[in-house]
Amino acid sequence: MSIQKALVTGAAGFLGSHLTDALLADGFEVIGVDNLSTGDYANLEHLRREPRFSLLERDITQPFDPGPVDTIFNFASPASPEDYHRLGVETLLVGSAGTIHTLDLARKYSANYLHASTSECYGDPEVHPQVETYWGNVNPVGPRSVYDEAKRFSEAAVTAYRRYYGVSTHLVRIFNTYGPRLQASDGRVISNLMTQALRGQPLTIYGEGAQTRSFCFVSDLIEGILRLARSSHHTPMNIGNDVEWTILECAKEVLTVTGAEVEIVFKPLPQDDPMRRRPDLTLARSILDWEPKVMLREGLQRSLKYFQTCVDAELPLPTP
Ligand code: UDP
Repeated sequence: MSIQKALVTGAAGFLGSHLTDALLADGFEVIGVDNLSTGDYANLEHLRREPRFSLLERDITQPFDPGPVDTIFNFASPASPEDYHRLGVETLLVGSAGTIHTLDLARKYSANYLHASTSECYGDPEVHPQVETYWGNVNPVGPRSVYDEAKRFSEAAVTAYRRYYGVSTHLVRIFNTYGPRLQASDGRVISNLMTQALRGQPLTIYGEGAQTRSFCFVSDLIEGILRLARSSHHTPMNIGNDVEWTILECAKEVLTVTGAEVEIVFKPLPQDDPMRRRPDLTLARSILDWEPKVMLREGLQRSLKYFQTCVDAELPLPTP
């Protein structure tokens, strides 16, 4: 059998780089694409001498053609609230024009296609836990709308390319994921709390910290995504971890894992911040025979060295 070729957009990002590693380990040849707006070459540095990997520096909002590929993973997008607030229009464009351009490639080359969608499609959910059949509660003009509506448009586009053109598509709705290579300065809760604890600074909690999230370790997510890409399931599927934590409980886990003795300070809750989030994983469990394995305490322990390296890199070099 000839070697399979995969295209990964957003390859220099947190998830894109882990996905690239997993595909290479599976024997694929990988073409990564990134415009480095939020990605980082450092995430791919270890692949510098890997002959089965190449990187195209491209913005997928412009049409591009890397030649024939067997499978496409569309992971390009700013993803943390801080990044997509800063890059609002870019986020809308990558989730609309960018998605269409990658779907056109899938159609042209008869490639399998998997799109990275999000639990943000559910907005501030009124159904709990969130099942894939729930249509969501999204503010179309709020500060999060540039991300949420771009991802919802992408789901419609992916579905249309399947319905009208017969492209083999998959949609994964990703819930909060963390681990090594999560940008230390992206403003997300795990990156903020871990770096604050390691710097000996107070932990910032927005609102009262009673809002909930369900945190998935990156290796579990990538395993689920690879299984979904190989499956014949085509409607959206949640992948995440279904153990739900309040943000205050999450902060206490961070204190335990880091051993930091710092105080917790409370800051205003951002507008439209979802109050509860937990995936219903019935579909993933039954169709993919998949289960999240790494729980929050262990996942934070496995991320500690990475965040410590990020914090150490900020320190001034000792004078000789
Ligand atoms: N949050 C917090 N302190 C921080 C950063 C985030 O309390 O320093 C809260 C944020 O308000 C939200 C939750 O943690 O309720 C998760 O935020 P994140 O930005 O990680 O991702 P989201 O799930 O909101 O996309």
